[in-house]
Amino acid sequence: MTRTKTLSASLPALDHPDPQTLASEVLMALKYRVGKDTTVATPYDWLTASIKVVRDRIIDHWISATKETYEQQEKRVYYLSLEFLIGRLMRDAFSNLDIMDPMREALASLGVDLDEIATLEPDAALGNGGLGRLAACFMESMATVDVPAHGYGIRYANGMFRQEIQDGWQVELPETWLDHGNSWEFERRERSFEVGFGGSVESVTAKDGRLERHVWKPLEHVLAVAYDTPVVGWKAKRVNTLRLWSGMPVDPILLDKFNAGDHIGALAESNKADALSRVLYPADSHKAGQELRLRQEYFFSTASLQDIVQRHLSQYGELASLPDKAAIHLNDTHPAVAVPELMRLLMDVHGMDFSQAWDITKRTFAYTNHTLLPEALESWPVPLFERLLPRHMQIVYAINAEVLQEARSSNRFSGDQIAAISLIQENGDRRVRMGNLAFVGSHSINGVSALHTELMKQTVFADLHRLYPDRINNKTNGITPRRWLIQCNPGLTALARQAIGDRFLDDIEAIKELDRFAGDAAFRDKFAAVKRANKTRLANLVADRLGIRVDPSALFDIQIKRIHEYKRQLLNILEAVALYDQIRSHPEKDWTPRVKFFGGKAAPSYHNAKLIIKLANDVAKVVNGDPAVRGLLKVVFVPNYNVSAAEIMMPAADLSEQISTAGMEASGTGNMKFALNGALTIGTLDGANVEMKEHVGDDNIFIFGLKADEVAERRRGDYQPRAIIEALPELAQAISAISSGVFSPHDPDRYRDLMNGLYDSDWFMVAADFDAYAATQREVDAVWNDRADWNARAIRNVARMGWFSSDRTIRQYAKEIWNVPV
Ligand SMILES: *Cc1c(COP(=O)(O)O)cnc(C)c1O
Repeated sequence: MTRTKTLSASLPALDHPDPQTLASEVLMALKYRVGKDTTVATPYDWLTASIKVVRDRIIDHWISATKETYEQQEKRVYYLSLEFLIGRLMRDAFSNLDIMDPMREALASLGVDLDEIATLEPDAALGNGGLGRLAACFMESMATVDVPAHGYGIRYANGMFRQEIQDGWQVELPETWLDHGNSWEFERRERSFEVGFGGSVESVTAKDGRLERHVWKPLEHVLAVAYDTPVVGWKAKRVNTLRLWSGMPVDPILLDKFNAGDHIGALAESNKADALSRVLYPADSHKAGQELRLRQEYFFSTASLQDIVQRHLSQYGELASLPDKAAIHLNDTHPAVAVPELMRLLMDVHGMDFSQAWDITKRTFAYTNHTLLPEALESWPVPLFERLLPRHMQIVYAINAEVLQEARSSNRFSGDQIAAISLIQENGDRRVRMGNLAFVGSHSINGVSALHTELMKQTVFADLHRLYPDRINNKTNGITPRRWLIQCNPGLTALARQAIGDRFLDDIEAIKELDRFAGDAAFRDKFAAVKRANKTRLANLVADRLGIRVDPSALFDIQIKRIHEYKRQLLNILEAVALYDQIRSHPEKDWTPRVKFFGGKAAPSYHNAKLIIKLANDVAKVVNGDPAVRGLLKVVFVPNYNVSAAEIMMPAADLSEQISTAGMEASGTGNMKFALNGALTIGTLDGANVEMKEHVGDDNIFIFGLKADEVAERRRGDYQPRAIIEALPELAQAISAISSGVFSPHDPDRYRDLMNGLYDSDWFMVAADFDAYAATQREVDAVWNDRADWNARAIRNVARMGWFSSDRTIRQYAKEIWNVPV
């Protein structure tokens, strides 16, 4: 039963400090927290002092919220995620505490420029892409809609790599975001837990000879130490905790070894512990199957569960009520080992029998699936799992026996179907299937868009869904409008406030009132002026950093996201090459000036993705340098795409490229950020694009290409990309130009295999969708050339995107999965 939330009187109200008060707080922080005076303070010191001021203000709300949750015995949500793609926090905090303007004034009175110090804040990139950014948006929304929550993850010393482009190639450099320390976090040395690996399992028998319990005797031990960052919601309604674990040795130095002269060996423990929180695996929707990765997964899962169990026990004194007071959410399968770990804690440490532990486990966990790509579905070789986690292996077998027994006794499943339900993959090398483990250990399994959820039921989890038909549900992703509108697009926010008042700040769905302004010519002009200013800012950045001049009056066409074949940056590049050819051969035609921006990182081991980055840069070089193009087409690859880059690029886009092969993008959230900032989408009916089309309306989005079922059908049938290419002269020309070295004259064979792949198999259906895509781009040109019509459509996009707020998503999770009041 969900009880409704009553507004609490005990939480402190948001106060409105004047600039003088804030200025004196900054000076105090500079002196007593940084230890400097104004004459020697560097810009970085001012940043630190400013963060301390806003953090102090947050702490008051943090402590009262925590106390209230305890006293009211509220159910807590625990969000376990191996990734949190946080980005910078200072502006967000100013904005959510409503002190941006007085803070700007306070700093100015001290001779400090807020915008300048804000760019010095490290961009916390503890994630790869969409999955990690979703976790960060969820943390902010949980605080905003007043859900008591903890995020749990790893405090990577090196998060996502920094991407440099050297001679057109991606080069990966370590991102050392903690170099200057981290002004946001609190180190909690006292909050540390032991983590074991390896060893053996012993059985303890009672006097009558019956097996009493199992005891795992690990061979290795490390400590997980907590670092807490407060996460503040809109108007500081609630402050939650992001708790990240760092690895520490139990014995920092092995003195026996040191004294015996083995100075390096003496540090072995320290190095092993350090490795656990050293790097984020930079693989997105791609294999990351290394032993260290499984160690990282267990490390943060057990530390989080020990913390949760201890908190619950200290408040309630027993564990039977855990599912009533704690909802533990698994963001993808990375924390799936938490399922056997909770079972182990309940049975081996707290003496429960299997069936009670299993009941509690299933009622406590819920799991979100993020991908159907076979190469991204996690599984671990049984021998590795068994060596590292011998007790968990036993528990996985016990769970499997229980589940398979249920399936067999229903008499509804064939042998093949039973094999698909099993937690162990038996053909080839034996592996533990983490998706199946997360599924059977959870009462709720959700997809992240309507289409993705349907495909989950039909493909990877078809048989598990038949066995447990009430578990799969949909929760379409969302984005926080604080970061992705209010904070990153102050021009559009101010314009909207003038037009419809402030209600949309508290409830983003109220932005729909902007809809009627689509027909208002004066408003459209103001809207266009805001967009123009945002485009000019991006143009200046590109000129400064890359030396490429682009015209802000051209159509800004942007594709920024991880580089992956299924996201089809290659389709976009091929269309650019075809367009380039057309502009050159038909100079008399009235071409629409366009700038195609690309940005994104490739997994370092992903050969084709890295080659696609090089291709974008090679094409850019030729196109941008060709006088025959007369500036009508420019191609720009923006290096090191991250949250901070997104905050500048989203508001500057006219056209958002969301062109994945249908059925392959689970949701997308970049698509939502663009549309909320007034870009029109060109996209396939994939992921959340399907629902965006329903919300913004068919006339306000450009949809093309094969649908998911048509892609599946072609793959089953005999798809002949060669015939398609040969029938499309523009495509054939583009492919042959790239293949023959027009864009790589010093290495003419560079792209030969990549292009041959299109002829031979074309798994991602680039050829099948090319013609529809190119034709739709010419339709885009036509609408762009009627600027009043374009702007009206763009305004309707902004007005109709409120539903894609992560506040809405979190409310649905709270009501339908976690059973907590909102
Ligand atoms: C939103 C976001 C993503 C996800 O983009 P998609 O287009 O949905 O793949 C990835 N990286 C960053 C930095 C983001 O802000």
